[in-house]
Amino acid sequence: MPELKNYLSDLYETNGLPSSHDRRFALIKEMELLEGKTIHCFTCPGTCCTSQANSMQITPIEALEILQSLQVDQFDNSQMSAFKERMTSTVSGYRLNVEIYTGKKNSSALRKNYTCPFFNNGSLGCGLSRSAKPYGCLGFNPKTSDDNGQTCSSNIEVLEVREHSFQSKEDLVNAQIRKELNLPWIKQNIPQALLDTALALYN
Ligand code: SF4
Ligand code: SF4
Repeated sequence: MPELKNYLSDLYETNGLPSSHDRRFALIKEMELLEGKTIHCFTCPGTCCTSQANSMQITPIEALEILQSLQVDQFDNSQMSAFKERMTSTVSGYRLNVEIYTGKKNSSALRKNYTCPFFNNGSLGCGLSRSAKPYGCLGFNPKTSDDNGQTCSSNIEVLEVREHSFQSKEDLVNAQIRKELNLPWIKQNIPQALLDTALALYN
């Protein structure tokens, strides 16, 4: 397996897919516009990032772009072990790898809540760069100043514009990653997605 940076470059080039930042540009701009009106998350306890309300799932390309933003290629053995341990403890702590039994059938489509391993308490909030954040996280914002999670919602319009622009190429890229890294899922919770992709790349 080539370095992650080169693997991603090949995926972008082969499939004509714009960069991680360019595909999130509209969502980042919208967030910045809101911040300019003092509508931001800085005083929120992180309702949408904690087990109170977070059940975010991501695609394979989003997982690889998070790994790249963390520069996992540069991790030494102890950093890689600490990273895997952090993801594993979230997965096991919230039983994210155990399917919900509905009484009639097991359904992997049912999502569980968990506190995101990248959430930092207080005003620090999300530890990921905006250029690598999950689309769903970028598109979920408050509506008023100091909203603190009361009326936050997804900006469906901007999310759909983003999807319309990139979905067909992302579908091809995700299919290629799933095949090459032998991933059995289309979308997965953040820690399990990162664990699976990191194990496929670095084991
Ligand atoms: S990636 Fe960031 S914004 Fe998304 S759930 Fe995790 S901490 Fe919150
Ligand atoms: S989007 Fe809403 S719930 Fe999530 S951190 Fe920002 S203010 Fe809090």
